[in-house]
Amino acid sequence: MKIGFIGLGNMGAPMARNLAAAGHEVRGYDMAAPEPEGVLAAASAAEAAEDADVVITMLPNGPILLAVAAQVMPAMKPGAILCDCSTVDVESARKVAADARAAGLGALDAPVSGGIGGAQGGTLTFMVGGSEGDFQRVLPLFEIMGQKTVHCGDSGAGQAAKICNNMILGVTMIATCEAFALADRLGLDRQKMFDVVSTSSGYSWSMNAYCPAPGIGPTSPADNDYKPGFASELMLKDLGLSQEAAAAAGAETPMGELAHQLYTRFVEQEDGRGRDFSAMLPRFVSRNAK
Ligand code: NAD
Repeated sequence: MKIGFIGLGNMGAPMARNLAAAGHEVRGYDMAAPEPEGVLAAASAAEAAEDADVVITMLPNGPILLAVAAQVMPAMKPGAILCDCSTVDVESARKVAADARAAGLGALDAPVSGGIGGAQGGTLTFMVGGSEGDFQRVLPLFEIMGQKTVHCGDSGAGQAAKICNNMILGVTMIATCEAFALADRLGLDRQKMFDVVSTSSGYSWSMNAYCPAPGIGPTSPADNDYKPGFASELMLKDLGLSQEAAAAAGAETPMGELAHQLYTRFVEQEDGRGRDFSAMLPRFVSRNAK
């Protein structure tokens, strides 16, 4: 396939590289980052999209996606598919899909889980919204970039799945961190806490796979001085998206709301900016010490 790839940052660069390494012709564009190995350079987003069967975007947020989509859609050939893998709000995903269909194009929202390691290793999970026909045409590409793909429903369903997943992640990370900080105050050894919780009903991905306590469990950003990994700012962005979606849909999400407040404070008023989202643990520990 001929693929246009726009947004070659931490996630996009390794995803584009994996597609090229699998034998696809990939033409990439980023306003700042260089093309990764095997990816042909385009001078603009529109040039990357010309002639492509599938145009993939991996961009920071919804407003940037809308601006890039408006640039590339007029350049795309009829019947080509615009596949956005960024994490954005459900409304932007639905608008891009509606505009694409009106222009005679296919459209998928296909955000990912698995982080930079998953992008590099080709082990991402894709959660996809859009028609069955468009989904089947892009599935071979998802299978190169990832190890699991779920077709969640119509346009916007992929983003809905992503923000629900990350709302759970934000809440469980905070709960795991506050429990470790409480254990410290109670004189409970952190390793013993991990040994119990990771095999008891308090277990979660935050505890078992991404433990926020250094030296405990599998290697995680806590073992690298809380360098991201998944930055607190990105978690704050995703919790903002889930709260916006909840407000628009009239859904009550009190835990998501509190997690959003805590990450807002952590990033904007404390020392969370530029640190992994699991750095909530030293934050609780230092507050408990006061
Ligand atoms: P990033 O900032 O490293 O990459 C984004 C890239 O988009 C940058 O290189 C930037 O120069 C480029 N860009 C911005 N505006 C552009 C424009 N108008 N035209 C062309 N290029 C433009 O971010 P990332 O970590 O690669 O994340 C990308 C998306 O993936 C985000 O939506 C993020 O929420 C999501 N995501 C990230 C992770 C993660 O662990 N980093 C995990 C899952 C999902």
